[in-house]
Amino acid sequence: MDISASLPSFDEAVRFHGHVCPGLAIGYRVATTAMQLLGVDRPRDEELVAVVENDTCAVDAIQVVTGCTFGKGNLVFKDYGKGGFSFFSRDKSKGFRIRYHDFPMLPEADGARMEQLKKRIHFEGAATETERREYGELRGRLIQLVLTWAAKDLLDWQPLAEVPPNPARIHPSIVCEGCGEHVMETRIREVGGKSLCIPCSKEAS
Ligand SMILES: [Zn+2]
Ligand SMILES: [Zn+2]
Repeated sequence: MDISASLPSFDEAVRFHGHVCPGLAIGYRVATTAMQLLGVDRPRDEELVAVVENDTCAVDAIQVVTGCTFGKGNLVFKDYGKGGFSFFSRDKSKGFRIRYHDFPMLPEADGARMEQLKKRIHFEGAATETERREYGELRGRLIQLVLTWAAKDLLDWQPLAEVPPNPARIHPSIVCEGCGEHVMETRIREVGGKSLCIPCSKEAS
């Protein structure tokens, strides 16, 4: 099933993220590949779950394309610093872990020039307007490569055996005895016989 026409465009991801960058392009490829593998449209609710193993630019494209968002709780962050992304469809009872295993490169001379310009812009702070423009063009070509490479050259994937847990997110609130603000019950800490929120408990101990 080809569902690519129904998915948000890369431009929509750029608008959400605020800038265009190679990491966002990778996230876009990961997310669109996941939707193709699962054969699902962008869901409205929590029937799709994403587990991301890093908090890079890529994750913003994943939120836009898959509808798995931080606010809905169907985007789970594991702070592993790895390039792995898992997706599970509850409706279809199937899932995949996708990772990027290779990254396209510009022809050697262009790649070297890009590194040189990057140094001038980001470390020496001495780049001219022309150099900045040249850097932008090279970077744009690299991003284009990420967006157009065959998925199997950029990524690999494995089916997932298990449904990731969907922990209950709604808990009663109680009032912190330190600041008087409402706090989700599961985040209350008992310090010196008082029920405190996390910031107050840190102050008290
Ligand atoms: Zn970015
Ligand atoms: Zn408090």
